[in-house]
Amino acid sequence: MKTLANYTQGQWQEGHGTGTLLLDPVLGTELASVNAQGLDVAAAYDWARTHGGQALRQLSYAERAALLAKIAQVLQANRNKSFDISQQNSGTAQNDGAVDVDGGIYTLSYYAKLGSKLTERNLRTDGQSDSLARDNVFASQHIYVPVQGVALLINAFNFPSWGLWEKAAPALLSGVPIVVKPASATAWLTHEMIKDVVQANILPVGAISLICGRPDGLLDALNSLDIVSFTGSADTAADLRRHPNILREGVRFNAETDSVNCAILGSDDDTTATDLLVREVVRELTVKSGQKCTAIRRILVPASRYDAVAQALAAKLKTITVGDPRNPEVRMGSLVSRQQYEDIIQGMEKLSAHCDILFDGRQETKILADTATAACVAPMLFGTREPDTNSVVHHIEVFGPVATLMPYRDIEHAFALARRGMGSLVASVYSEDPQFMAHAAMRLAESHGRVHLINSAVAKAQTGHGNVMPQSNHGGPGRAGGGEELGGLRALKFYHRLSAIQGSPDILARLSENPGQ
Ligand code: NAP
Repeated sequence: MKTLANYTQGQWQEGHGTGTLLLDPVLGTELASVNAQGLDVAAAYDWARTHGGQALRQLSYAERAALLAKIAQVLQANRNKSFDISQQNSGTAQNDGAVDVDGGIYTLSYYAKLGSKLTERNLRTDGQSDSLARDNVFASQHIYVPVQGVALLINAFNFPSWGLWEKAAPALLSGVPIVVKPASATAWLTHEMIKDVVQANILPVGAISLICGRPDGLLDALNSLDIVSFTGSADTAADLRRHPNILREGVRFNAETDSVNCAILGSDDDTTATDLLVREVVRELTVKSGQKCTAIRRILVPASRYDAVAQALAAKLKTITVGDPRNPEVRMGSLVSRQQYEDIIQGMEKLSAHCDILFDGRQETKILADTATAACVAPMLFGTREPDTNSVVHHIEVFGPVATLMPYRDIEHAFALARRGMGSLVASVYSEDPQFMAHAAMRLAESHGRVHLINSAVAKAQTGHGNVMPQSNHGGPGRAGGGEELGGLRALKFYHRLSAIQGSPDILARLSENPGQ
């Protein structure tokens, strides 16, 4: 069994001690282990800052974009291997693997293309200068310069590829060296991808480092001018935010956490909108076995449509076959681990105590795997007719194929229920009424990082409620972590520092001509 080595200071290094095992979640077999004990994290960061950071900042934005394009080519060439690892280590069916693997390659390619159009060399100006004195003899120009610290990228288990590249692409394009810490349970794919990129010798030494496992000092060794981009649960984010280095030293910290996202059926009595909602909910429940931070957890429908929607969803869920993704009959694979399986079962029990069961996969779903060992769980649809008093359904994120249906009285009630998620990554709305859709977008935007509006005109072209497109903001306020990622060039802001430069206009005009680092 292989140990997934760490890549720091330009070398592959194994940790000491026994490490953490990575298992096939369907067969239970041991695949690899991770171990970062004994790693000199401070030296790793220092190496990245000095070697990687300096080398990256010697290049222009467009030159760094060209490196991203080369990375995407390497990943594309190894795509089949990535699918294979994803199937073994994450229990994902082929189509679900694409969300992670192809999603990562697409995001890198997108930033490569976007960056290729940037003409700046080493800073980005923000708007025009503003006069600070009569006759404009003294003025202020805001600029963004790349962070000279290291970016620590901590990722969740459900996206070992996309989660890596959606953070790495804007960081590297900005000229910031990255240290990647994947979730232990699914670190294999991240490890393999970074190994291939290192072997292809694309990036300057020190631009990318990899820490698999949990070494001592991961956060202690950061300094005030480093940054952390975290994806994972709200509980872990809260723990990390309390770390003295983050709290006291003001280390910049972006958090993408869990979220109780919703889908809203408009109040019009339109069967097209109902069909669109039903199709999307089933897709969100089953893709990656519902292990997506953006998945639909709450379904809000007019009270008069509650029973019809429940029946339509149940009819479709009945057709899903769950099991070993190596079996071609299987549409939905397993969860990533038996630990996750236990957590999902517990979450379902909590919902069962407060809700009706509208579709019971435990009775109705065919599971093609050994259920005693495999982390396979059938989809479940819950329902509550009392969404105002049932606070559990707005609070619990059961990170699997689970959602809850609830009725609303009028559209203001629907908006109020959506807001009970206290900040979510995404809300989707289904209606054929354009006036209503525009109004819904405005009302939902305050508590949702993305609002996805679906009618029949966009039904075929739409990118999906749960798919995170690099063109659009990813993140959400409050419960969702308060973070912002992607959104085109907006993503670069996190990896730059803003400074207001005050001086004479002729000096300000020379800022972007400066060739130095
Ligand atoms: P998690 O348990 O919070 O772990 C996330 C990452 O933090 C892992 O790499 C984990 O490492 C690391 N970590 C945990 N405790 C740490 C500590 N004390 N010091 C340093 N690192 C630490 O989350 P998860 O179970 O992997 O992921 C599932 C959750 O992520 C779900 O709630 C989901 O909603 C959320 N998620 C959000 C997004 C988003 O973009 N908003 C995307 C995907 C997932 P180890 O694995 O080594 O423990």
